[in-house]
Amino acid sequence: MPQQTFTAFSSTEANLKDLIRHIDAERFRKEHVPVCSFLSKNCLGACCSLPVAVTQEEAEVLSRLVKDRADVFRKMGKNIRGAVIRIDSRNKRRRLAKRKRSFRELNKIIYNLINKKNELGPLDFRFFSRFTRTCVFAMHDGSCSLQLLAKREGLHKWYYKPFNCWKYPLSIDKGRLTLPEKISSMHFPCSKDKNTPAYQGLQEELSFLGKIVNRDILKEIWFS
Ligand code: SF4
Repeated sequence: MPQQTFTAFSSTEANLKDLIRHIDAERFRKEHVPVCSFLSKNCLGACCSLPVAVTQEEAEVLSRLVKDRADVFRKMGKNIRGAVIRIDSRNKRRRLAKRKRSFRELNKIIYNLINKKNELGPLDFRFFSRFTRTCVFAMHDGSCSLQLLAKREGLHKWYYKPFNCWKYPLSIDKGRLTLPEKISSMHFPCSKDKNTPAYQGLQEELSFLGKIVNRDILKEIWFS
């Protein structure tokens, strides 16, 4: 019987099962993270400016998807032209391609950051240059067209999203599921809540990951 999969990337899912051997339960219980603003409908899509590395399978599936569903993407208001994957010249890794942000989109992010400078601390204006480009799948309102497509097709909202998108900022390091050493609030400029316990703020991500690797990760965090 074929194995149940939760995303469009069955081999990437299978690899993940082997990759996670331990869980940094204590860090998830004790540390705090900013919560993704998508939940509070305050999303500007700012983190979609960060580079997103993808597996070979993700690159192939997504490249096929934009061709097979070109008319559906267009109906959603997303006209994707050109390659959706590029090879990073520095490390030869596959990444999601980017497009230029419109002035209006960029303006919204900068306005938001300036308004929140008291929470974020001194702003380095050079940092804004990071936001001038965004992922090729990003909609103009900051939402993700892959997520919209999945919902339209009655699938889980992360079905077509690369793992590195929905699992951010979870990190897998030497067989250990953990948090990055430093989670910069500048990476979550839309976030309203910067001080939520990690197991709680990342509950949706941990629970979805648990389904994929067939473990009750939240329970392991609490009872280990
Ligand atoms: S695929 Fe979606 S979530 Fe991932 S970077 Fe692109 S727009 Fe953002």
